[in-house]
Amino acid sequence: MIRPAKEIAVSAAHEHAHNEPRALMTGHDHGHDEPRTSERKLTFWERTYLPVIFKGLVNTFKMMFRPSATIDYVGRDSKPEQRHIPAVGYRGEHYLKVDDGGNIKCVACFMCSTACPAECITIVGEPTPVDEFGAQRFKKPQVFEIDMLKCIYCGMCVEACPKDAIAMSTTYNQVHTKRSDAIYDMQRLLKNNDEFMASLNLSRSGKDATGKYPLSPDGCGPDVTHGLQPFRVGTREGGA
Ligand code: SF4
Ligand code: SF4
Repeated sequence: MIRPAKEIAVSAAHEHAHNEPRALMTGHDHGHDEPRTSERKLTFWERTYLPVIFKGLVNTFKMMFRPSATIDYVGRDSKPEQRHIPAVGYRGEHYLKVDDGGNIKCVACFMCSTACPAECITIVGEPTPVDEFGAQRFKKPQVFEIDMLKCIYCGMCVEACPKDAIAMSTTYNQVHTKRSDAIYDMQRLLKNNDEFMASLNLSRSGKDATGKYPLSPDGCGPDVTHGLQPFRVGTREGGA
């Protein structure tokens, strides 16, 4: 029987594919029994590797005198126009806010840790002292930790916070030598607040020279005590 050309081509391709692994395994060429003999012998100098090492060194030496193609992304040694300025709304390291009295704004409500998809926030709350009316209105965190190695910088914790107590700075260059260093405790998160506010010429509670709080949502000063936080909007130019 005469087989159609298409069927013959498919059959040949199957046969080729079937023989290929065997050819590779045996070092033989497609069913022929002759071993490969085309490998070239290395010369004496090639076996010493000295020429290629010398070539590499010459190349390295030439590159040493060329202008650098990389930039110092942190910006310490680079020109201002080379620095990485995070965009408005950039989500970097977290910080915990304080009010004008220097008290932490967090009331240990667990909203942020509940919203966190990475489950990297650990909070232990404790009651605050009874106020002058005999009421114990709020809690405050005794422990507040974020495992920055688990964090995915999604910002859900910030959105969930009803007290405008947690936010994310534009700090992005984290270098740690131990895993435990990447677990930011309350002191570290408050220190982040102080450093970030100082870098923006704001007071510790985020107040500017006009008495406004540009990093807080509209209408939310440092003493906001109720209401869900509206969507955060970037309020500063240049990436803050
Ligand atoms: S940014 Fe996202 S992952 Fe990181 S702590 Fe907040 S909610 Fe969790
Ligand atoms: S949601 Fe805000 S107030 Fe509540 S525990 Fe988290 S940071 Fe504190």
